Amino acid sequence: MYSEDDLIPISGLQHLAYCERQFALIHVEQLWADNRFTAEGDVLHERVDAEHHESRRLFRQEYGMAVRSLEHGIIGKCDLVELYLKPEGGVAEAVPVEFKRGRDKESDVDRVQLCAQAFCLEEMVGVEVPRGDFYYLGAHRRTSAELSLALRAETRRLIERARAILAGGESPAASYAAAKCDRCSLVDLCMPRALSEGGRRVERYLKSGIAAMRKECD
Ligand code: SF4
Repeated sequence: MYSEDDLIPISGLQHLAYCERQFALIHVEQLWADNRFTAEGDVLHERVDAEHHESRRLFRQEYGMAVRSLEHGIIGKCDLVELYLKPEGGVAEAVPVEFKRGRDKESDVDRVQLCAQAFCLEEMVGVEVPRGDFYYLGAHRRTSAELSLALRAETRRLIERARAILAGGESPAASYAAAKCDRCSLVDLCMPRALSEGGRRVERYLKSGIAAMRKECD
């Protein structure tokens, strides 16, 4: 069991699943920058906070619910948790719901976040959480994601990896990949093209120096 002072933010798992260096820049080096995608995410969450709250006798919606798991050592906030209650008291079923902008399809990064929220709810509410939902605000469409054993194992792996990077206190080297770096809000701070190219130049320089030394020794 982890202590309250030793919890990893669930949002960090998203960063880690996206890019290890992004995770380290934000959570080790404490850097942050917004871009269009993060700004749109902020607007979406403001909109979620203004959404309708529904409560019936055996059904409750909790928006912005704070969650944590001491077993897994994680903490975060769910956009929405739907709680189906037992007539005799207690919770029969809990479903975390993540709101998404537009009509995009969710990614593994999003599913890991949902799974981590499920870990927390299972500990807090005491019921198994076999699925989570995505709600697309742009399309008013809702889909379900099965929280499979494979996804649970991957989420646990990421939690352990996050802990190891935080304990090591160093950021992994930059490596440019257009598909992720061109959408990353930290691209100007990270400088993946320059550092990748610079790293290759240093490697070439060292290799040529070693080759020259070997030649002299022959
Ligand atoms: S710019 Fe690329 S390498 Fe750098 S943190 Fe972002 S995704 Fe990772």
